[in-house]
Amino acid sequence: MKEIILIKNGELALKGLNRSSFESVLAKTIRRRFAQLGKVNIVCQQSTMTIDPQEADFDMDKAISVLEKVFGIAGFQRAAAVEKDMAVILDTAPKYLAEQLESISTFKVEAKRSDKKFPLKSPEISRDVGEAILNAYPDLTVDVHNPDLTVTVEIRDNYAYIRGDQIKGAGGMPVGTGGKAAILISGGIDSPVAAWMMSKRGVVLDAIHFASPPFTSPQSEQKVHDLLAQVAKYSGNIALFTVAFTDIQQKIRANCPEELFTLIMRRFMMRISNEIAKNNGCQALVTGESIGQVASQTMPALACTDAVAEMPVFRPLIAMDKEEIIRISRKIETFDISIRPYEDCCTVFTPKHPRTRPTVEMLVEAEKALDVDALVKEAVETARFEIIK
Ligand code: ATP
Ligand code: MG
Repeated sequence: MKEIILIKNGELALKGLNRSSFESVLAKTIRRRFAQLGKVNIVCQQSTMTIDPQEADFDMDKAISVLEKVFGIAGFQRAAAVEKDMAVILDTAPKYLAEQLESISTFKVEAKRSDKKFPLKSPEISRDVGEAILNAYPDLTVDVHNPDLTVTVEIRDNYAYIRGDQIKGAGGMPVGTGGKAAILISGGIDSPVAAWMMSKRGVVLDAIHFASPPFTSPQSEQKVHDLLAQVAKYSGNIALFTVAFTDIQQKIRANCPEELFTLIMRRFMMRISNEIAKNNGCQALVTGESIGQVASQTMPALACTDAVAEMPVFRPLIAMDKEEIIRISRKIETFDISIRPYEDCCTVFTPKHPRTRPTVEMLVEAEKALDVDALVKEAVETARFEIIK
């Protein structure tokens, strides 16, 4: 039996004139993610996209698990595509939907007939299919108002489609429709969640990681790779820039007041990230910061880090509680990677009494002890580049 997938495009339907370009980005993404699975035909019609596998050994279950991670999809359904013949439809419906029918007690059938030449009208199709299902599952009852399962039979040009309930999609916007940004990624819980949230809004991601060997270990970098690989299941490939940060941190420690270490470090991260992002066509920086979480995330501290960034800094977690962030990190399966032990470049050099009410003037004064421009230039030029898939 031939099977297809019908996709409902979340917010895309609202986008009026932009819709077709959004749809073509989504279709391209799906084709790319399905590359290993085989060739598919994709047709868009009235905010529904039909994916029609062209190969006999196409793995539907695998395809569904891939689609669950594609942004821009509100919901989707598997459907059986059968000959437009009532006998075939009546025979297929109870068998094809067996798994769903076995786990419910009430259902209804909805028929849609876009091929008006089909001999039966919609109410007659509904009635006959309902009867066939009741014959196969005598314990079920029909409930047209509040059914556990709605069975849809749609008579289109080439096939009759039979389908059950909708599977929830990842929502959001297709990646590539929301611009490009660079996520500052640590090995913690927050930044991978921030990355995922931006990706969900259609933003293409580059990633920047600051490593401080030998104070941070190769395992810390591996962790960042693993986190990004998990995010990439949703976002698609991510270009990762790893910046050697040890020298800068040691110079800060040797020349600047201890209470400002963290903020000066963060301002360097911003400056370096800003350059790398600019060189790679990014329009914004993204961090996993959240108000009040630590001393460097108070409002005055955030203002000090923002002061050196030329591009907008987005902080999707800014008003979220740790619990909410953790809930998402579990859902997207980054949590277990994030809680592996590791050293972050920030924690290695944390001052005992960080300043919570810093001012930009204080920082500018303290940074006079360093050749900021040269340090930034060196860090940008020596950043290591790789693609995380
Ligand atoms: P996370 O869980 O994301 O590490 P956090 O709560 O531990 O966040 P900080 O360590 O203060 O907070 O970092 C705040 C943000 O700064 C991170 O979310 C991340 O965007 C960025 N950041 C921190 N450390 C690094 C690093 N080593 N490389 C790149 N970005 C970093
Ligand atoms: Mg951290």
